[in-house]
Amino acid sequence: MYDIIIIGAGVNGAFAAYRLAKYKLNILIIEKEIDVGNETSGANSAIVHSGYDPHPGTLKAKLNVLGNSLYDEICQDLDVEFKRIGSLTIACTDEEVAILDELVENAKLNNVPVELLDKETLHKIEPFVTEKAVKALLAPTAGIINPFELCVGLVENAMDNGVKLNLEEKVEKIIKDEQGYAVVTDKGIYLTKIIINAAGVFADEVSNLVNEKKYQLIPRKGEYFVLDHFSEPYVTHTLFSVPSSKGKGVLVTPSTHGNYLIGPSSMFIDDKEDEATNKDTLDEVIKQAYRLVDKIPMNHLIREFAGLRAYHESNDFVINQLTPGFINVLGMQSPGLASAPATSLMVEEMVKENLKLVLKDDYIKTRRPLYRLNKKSLEERDALIRQNPQFANMICRCEQISEGEIVDAIRRNCGARTIKGVKKRVRPGFGKCQGGFCEPLVMKILSRELGIDMKDVTYNNRGSYILQNKTKGETND
Ligand SMILES: Cc1cc2nc3c(=O)[nH]c(=O)nc-3n(C[C@H](O)[C@H](O)[C@H](O)COP(=O)(O)OP(=O)(O)OC[C@H]3O[C@@H](n4cnc5c(N)ncnc54)[C@H](O)[C@@H]3O)c2cc1C
Repeated sequence: MYDIIIIGAGVNGAFAAYRLAKYKLNILIIEKEIDVGNETSGANSAIVHSGYDPHPGTLKAKLNVLGNSLYDEICQDLDVEFKRIGSLTIACTDEEVAILDELVENAKLNNVPVELLDKETLHKIEPFVTEKAVKALLAPTAGIINPFELCVGLVENAMDNGVKLNLEEKVEKIIKDEQGYAVVTDKGIYLTKIIINAAGVFADEVSNLVNEKKYQLIPRKGEYFVLDHFSEPYVTHTLFSVPSSKGKGVLVTPSTHGNYLIGPSSMFIDDKEDEATNKDTLDEVIKQAYRLVDKIPMNHLIREFAGLRAYHESNDFVINQLTPGFINVLGMQSPGLASAPATSLMVEEMVKENLKLVLKDDYIKTRRPLYRLNKKSLEERDALIRQNPQFANMICRCEQISEGEIVDAIRRNCGARTIKGVKKRVRPGFGKCQGGFCEPLVMKILSRELGIDMKDVTYNNRGSYILQNKTKGETND
């Protein structure tokens, strides 16, 4: 019998596993996708918001501000990229300036440091901001993070500390009895004392399997453009529009890897699996982005993507334990990522109400750092290559990623099993050629390391095969 089963390996499930892994507990994560962080947690703006804008007194406000303050140490321990670059909320009209003034008061109530900048100061620190801007709100504690790397780091550390991860397994039914719960998946049945429901946009359906009170989450899609990294100067802070009832609006921001994100849109949809992008929506995103900057270097456009917010009618996070031992983490819209370190502390407290928690003696606090060859000096690279010549075999020319790094990303706990898994962990395929050169080489490495046929290597989830048959010589059925 497990002590805890966590449903979902997005940032909230991953954080719950990471927090609880320090105790003597038998923990299993069940995730329906082929990788962790593959849903909303891997497709968002990646901002660790400062917390100036959530309504004071809400869970969003409380957990955002605390969560933000916890990120430095966690990212250092787990070797996850995180930079406090600060955010600027740009006002272009008198009405928007009035909203900035309200936001200053809101920030005070939430205990978040902010500063109003006049036009001249704004343009001095961000010359690419639109000439129409008249004022801006600087929030210096806002940061950018690599959210996928975060999920991997959290789960890897949890696994280093004994947590089990079952991928490609979907929870379909939950039966409650006096001992706890029987979790029925498409692959088996597991008994557990506690369930943590961190199933993202599906968390309502998982909660409804057990609780009398029924929830409904409505997916609200956000679409983005991704620009390549380039050497000309561009924006260095996260630029926000003035928020509205639809949310934080379109932003323009650098990412931790030096790319730029432009988006997101905000549209309610019906299908919880619809992550397609749409030209008209993205045209509107660009229109909105021109309210922040006068120039968008669209010649550097490399990709589009979409993520789904889990909207609940309260417009706040819903974290509760309606049935003893069944903990809900649902309605985790933005700032769910920024809040996640604090959300997991709340979950930990709820677990303590059910179980006596005893710390492990052999808990491992830090994750073994990644190699990150392209950030090392020539001397450091040389030393690594002398230890292992795979570091000299450059697989991705655009991003400068070696075979040694890819092999490491596959062999670690919570290692990559797909092309997308390798790409999102160590970046081959993220550059200008978008995998045109390196994808077949990555496939070969995956095939060798996982001991599977090249034909069985997938891009992402089940069925997303790249190869079908040999074109020369022997043919396969
Ligand atoms: C467009 C957009 C922009 C955003 N920007 C930001 C931002 O800049 N900053 C910020 O703080 N927040 C942001 N957010 C919010 C943030 O991304 C989310 O709060 C967070 O990622 C939610 O994480 P989660 O773990 O709850 O859900 P998810 O990441 O969706 O994880 C849930 C997991 O559960 C799995 N699952 C579901 N059902 C089952 C089942 N039956 N069995 C097994 N597994 C199951 C899913 O496959 C999934 O992997 C944004 C969200 C969106 C959509």
